[in-house]
Amino acid sequence: MFGYDQKPGTKYQFDWEPDVRGYAIPVTLINGIRPGKTVLLTAQIHSGEYPGTVALIRLAQKLEPSQVSGRLIIMPLVNISGFYARTHAVLPEDGANLNQNYPGSPDGSPGERIAHCFATKIFPKVDFVLDLHSGDVTETLTPCLFYSDIMESQILPIARYLRVPYLIRSTATTGHYSWPGHHLKIPGILLERGHGGRCLEHWVEEDQRDVLSCLQALGVLPACHLTPYQDQWIMRHSVYLESRHSGLWYPKVEAGQFVKKGQCLGYVEDHFGNLLERYEAQADGIVYYYTHCLAILKGQPLAAYGVVTEMAQIKKHG
Ligand SMILES: [Zn+2]
Repeated sequence: MFGYDQKPGTKYQFDWEPDVRGYAIPVTLINGIRPGKTVLLTAQIHSGEYPGTVALIRLAQKLEPSQVSGRLIIMPLVNISGFYARTHAVLPEDGANLNQNYPGSPDGSPGERIAHCFATKIFPKVDFVLDLHSGDVTETLTPCLFYSDIMESQILPIARYLRVPYLIRSTATTGHYSWPGHHLKIPGILLERGHGGRCLEHWVEEDQRDVLSCLQALGVLPACHLTPYQDQWIMRHSVYLESRHSGLWYPKVEAGQFVKKGQCLGYVEDHFGNLLERYEAQADGIVYYYTHCLAILKGQPLAAYGVVTEMAQIKKHG
């Protein structure tokens, strides 16, 4: 896959060039001593989202081929140029959002070529994608995970072991975890934990624990104290609220908060303090995340929440 020996019982750490000259993504490749699934673990698809990066670096150091059935491809710093440039989410070379631009193009901009390289060289060789994210410097969020609607029956038996309260069904099709699901039938999870451009130790530890649980549930690591998380909800309807104005955004909710239909989520004012728009919950729901930056541009996300119009739409898992 990377031109490296893939014989069982080997571990390699190297920089991989994804068809962009000079671009170097650090990779740890662990070929287990027993056959099994190949799992791709990624973080820093969006720059500025840190806990998953540290969790994967630690696991790449710790895990050994003797523990593994199958193969692990660990990439803690995919958007490494954005990591050092401290961009918000995107690739600094061309502004590409690597969670929106699949399948990319072989002769396009650097972001398009990176996506194309994953789409043609990496995804066809893997059985599962676990992609770690976080609210970046602009966002506050509660731990949650996203999965493709068409993959629900394959994802829920795995996701139930992650200590994440909200499992969010998504219709996205062009992201780093969703494109392989829709086009190659490879199940994937986008896990969100931590926010604000910070990297608190407990978020890193919780991400590590969830990655290990996922690998155990997939049979790549031996199952050890694997128990379903009891307080888990499947969210099948979500609202992604965008600002209809540029101005100053005053959020009035917290991540993880239950809101009632009609409750104020926040409002946008102009530069003279005049109200431009007040945003209300369209239904009873749970806030996944919100933008905490005062500055907001027209079209930027304000908040996202899962809809709970009646208890039947939010089912206790298991
Ligand atoms: Zn992200």
